[in-house]
Amino acid sequence: MQLERRQILMGAATAAISACVDTSSSAQSAPAPKSAVQNISSQEGIIPGKDLKEKLDNLEKWGFDGIEFWGGGLRERVSAIKAEMKGRPLRMSATCAGFEGALMSDQQSERDKALRTIKDIMEVAADLGSTGMIIVPAFSAQTKLNHIEGRKILMDLLPLVGEHGVKVGSRVLLEPLNRGEAWFLRQVADAGAICREINSPGVCLMGDMYHMYIEEPSDMGAFISGAAWLHHVHLASIKRNLPGQDARDFRNGFKGLKMMGYQDFMSLECGVIGDRMVEIPKAVKFLRQQWAEA
Ligand code: MG
Repeated sequence: MQLERRQILMGAATAAISACVDTSSSAQSAPAPKSAVQNISSQEGIIPGKDLKEKLDNLEKWGFDGIEFWGGGLRERVSAIKAEMKGRPLRMSATCAGFEGALMSDQQSERDKALRTIKDIMEVAADLGSTGMIIVPAFSAQTKLNHIEGRKILMDLLPLVGEHGVKVGSRVLLEPLNRGEAWFLRQVADAGAICREINSPGVCLMGDMYHMYIEEPSDMGAFISGAAWLHHVHLASIKRNLPGQDARDFRNGFKGLKMMGYQDFMSLECGVIGDRMVEIPKAVKFLRQQWAEA
């Protein structure tokens, strides 16, 4: 877990957190922590534009740092994406799902399909320089297994996923969802417990601040509990629209990200009320402001 240890913190208060999330005995060899950065990204589908070029032009104009692509069909787009991204300040953030089947399915054939297609998309994600591939072990409708059976199946498969990630230079990012979408994995800390047990740099996690509003008692607490494995964040308001379009306050979560020296992306995954050309740049300003105040 060398890679993750860099994130761990400064100062006496944060040393206590470090002790909680560090899982090895060599914490004292940790490199100096970096100051956190706010890299703002968006899922491709949210950004207006008739083609990728126009979307990237808009992202650049509005001060974004990155873009998140859907994993399905991504392999066929690699050369076009590389050509269009070349020379731009934008980087690829996470790769969002797009695989088939479900790792935690009660059906062997669905689990096999998931393993095969996740491995394939991880390779593409690595090729594009993505921070990792987002996966949900199973949406509620995708499995008949109970919590105990499901976890066992998942823990048997994740080491294979992690091994592949290490081989190809990528990782999966477990995404906890709210109870309306997935009963199994709902809190960042629970994803952290899975990552700790798997203990592979190929198996990490992310936090989605839309789901976190429903499931987490504390945004900061959630991020800190997952700090050692946290490599992506999704952003949406309470009603799953653009940040700033309702009362959702991101500052407590951002404070947590600052404490851990977060270096990865936070990415829009949301609807938009109103004109995208007007509302999206407003959301970027709002997020920069919330970060400054955190
Ligand atoms: Mg999400």
